[in-house]
Amino acid sequence: ALIITDECINCDVCEPECPNSAISQGDEIYVIDPNLCTECVGHYDEPQCQQVCPVDCIPLDPEHQETKEELHKKYLIISA
Ligand code: SF4
Ligand code: SF4
Repeated sequence: ALIITDECINCDVCEPECPNSAISQGDEIYVIDPNLCTECVGHYDEPQCQQVCPVDCIPLDPEHQETKEELHKKYLIISA
């Protein structure tokens, strides 16, 4: 999964781009639900939120590192 850092400026550009509805407005900044983020596996070649974020604040979440296979399995589960 990816994670949004505190550099987020709350621009709301990423939220509608997520094919898994994994992004939402948190208390202070936007947040990604790691249970729903497939790094866009199953939908796109590249993480869509990273593509649109104007301040480049959406890196890989070091606490939720997954292989492509695990991400694809998650995609199958959440889209079932
Ligand atoms: Fe959503 Fe894809 Fe960004 Fe994950 S990488 S939060 S699935 S847009
Ligand atoms: Fe925050 Fe980037 Fe999403 Fe804008 S696109 S809300 S700056 S994470």
